Amino acid sequence: MNNKEKFEYINLISAYIFNSILLKKYPNAKFGRIGVTEKGFYSDIDLNEKVLSLNELESINNYIKNNIKLIEKPIIMKMTKDEALAEFNDNTYKKEIIGSLKSNIINVIKIGEYKDIFLNEYLDVDYSNFSMALLNVSSAYWNNDSSNKSLTRVNGIAFNTLKELKDYKNKIEEAKQRDHRKLGKELGLFMFDDVAQGMPFWLPNGVIVYDKLVEFWKKLHKKNGYQEIKTPMIMSEKLWHTSGHWEHYKDNMYTTNVGYISYALKPMNCPGCMMVYKNQPHSYKEFPIRYGELGQVHRHEASGTLNGLFRVRTFTQDDAHIFCLPNQIESEISNLISLIDDVYKLFGFTYTIELSTRPENSMGSDEVWNLAENSLKQALNRCNKKYTINEGDGAFYGPKIDFHLKDCLGRDWQCGTIQLDFQMSERFDLSYIGEDGKQHRPVMLHRVILGSIERFIGILTEQYKGALPLWLSSTQVNIIPVNNDEKLIDYANYINDELSCDDIRTTLDVRNEKLGYKLRESILKKIPMTFIIGDREVDSKTISYRNFGDKNMYADSRKNVIELVKKKSINPANDFKYNR
Ligand code: ZN
Repeated sequence: MNNKEKFEYINLISAYIFNSILLKKYPNAKFGRIGVTEKGFYSDIDLNEKVLSLNELESINNYIKNNIKLIEKPIIMKMTKDEALAEFNDNTYKKEIIGSLKSNIINVIKIGEYKDIFLNEYLDVDYSNFSMALLNVSSAYWNNDSSNKSLTRVNGIAFNTLKELKDYKNKIEEAKQRDHRKLGKELGLFMFDDVAQGMPFWLPNGVIVYDKLVEFWKKLHKKNGYQEIKTPMIMSEKLWHTSGHWEHYKDNMYTTNVGYISYALKPMNCPGCMMVYKNQPHSYKEFPIRYGELGQVHRHEASGTLNGLFRVRTFTQDDAHIFCLPNQIESEISNLISLIDDVYKLFGFTYTIELSTRPENSMGSDEVWNLAENSLKQALNRCNKKYTINEGDGAFYGPKIDFHLKDCLGRDWQCGTIQLDFQMSERFDLSYIGEDGKQHRPVMLHRVILGSIERFIGILTEQYKGALPLWLSSTQVNIIPVNNDEKLIDYANYINDELSCDDIRTTLDVRNEKLGYKLRESILKKIPMTFIIGDREVDSKTISYRNFGDKNMYADSRKNVIELVKKKSINPANDFKYNR
């Protein structure tokens, strides 16, 4: 068994053990389905309107914990379908499951009085060290059908050892501490309100972070040969028929009528960019053309799937569309891979790469697909990147490369994508004049690096636990005079003015509060640098300072410290090597 299979097996057995203990408490309980996912297990139970409380879960969990060695050993009984139907005669759920099974021999697990259909091939279990956490109680319709009875769903998770469970709980606790929804509120970054479900309201501090990230993106793209465009947010229905969105994506689009014309808010930036390309004739000599667009899109996601900045109904994609010749694909992809590599490394993320290749029923000729796939592979090889291949998992209109970030909690985020598209240029009838003087279709690719600015800020907030790097922070330096002596205040003001002249974002804390209180507040606000100004600093023209997350106090001449701040606050796009 690999780790995943082992985890699923442990969780399956734990679900049966849980059910067997619950049955002792509720002898009339009727058990529905058990399910196992990468998040643990669930058990659906018909308790006849009885509501299970979290306290009860807790006491069942404690009972299992303290008595795990006393719980009867599970045994497996083999029954024919008829025998099994007779065995579970009073349980309509089990009868339905048995009826759906193909095999005539049914495995039934027995733990004390509790019997259930056993969903595994074999039973090989020493569960004496199993450690289980029962996570929550919710409800679920039988077979996910709202015309059926609503059952009680208990979610839990189990591990082979107590240590693994503890590690899991620590990780959950860490995730709670890092939750961008909590930190976003504490740091005044953004808010949500039901007047616009799933659409963030950016607060003053958040706008600064947002703008700094955008500024970084713009500099980076300008230096990499992109031209920036901006296309309308609302465009006529006609355009969405051309792009195919009306046919395939209408349910997720916000639409409106003005007079007799129907419009839609753009769910993607591509069609707008195609219009820009079509605005004038093109020659192969201009290629590659790289149009970047920070385009705000709207997508109507189901309300149940919304999740802070991670899943919203409006967001800004850091989009770009590249038009090139077939023999330019490889170099364009190589450039993109190193660009993406620079950006992810800057923020301290590691990542994995997936290449998805031609599916069945795809459009475009063998020749184009082979050239495209080979170019992608060669570019990946040339950049020395490891990748996995998802054979046949590309879109019908082109192969793609996906980049999955790994954050500090070990979670995967699909952010970057490079997608070749053979369809869009057909749909929009795009062309260029080739070397032969004839018209050709350009090769077109879509790409994003951050994915969505909103989601990326959410990911960064969690990655850094709210303590963003100095260049991105809404406040970069907090200056605290140790008392309200005029001499100190004057010096602090002088430093503040000097920093402000260099566009450093500062706060000056001259409130009549104790130094310890002000320092604690500076830490709570996660301000990257805090200057502490006392008599010694004034007399020696120095600055004493602390960096966030570091208990040490440092001191240097005023000039040196200010230089240091300026260096740290430089937009890192200035520092990347531009040889692309
Ligand atoms: Zn696109």
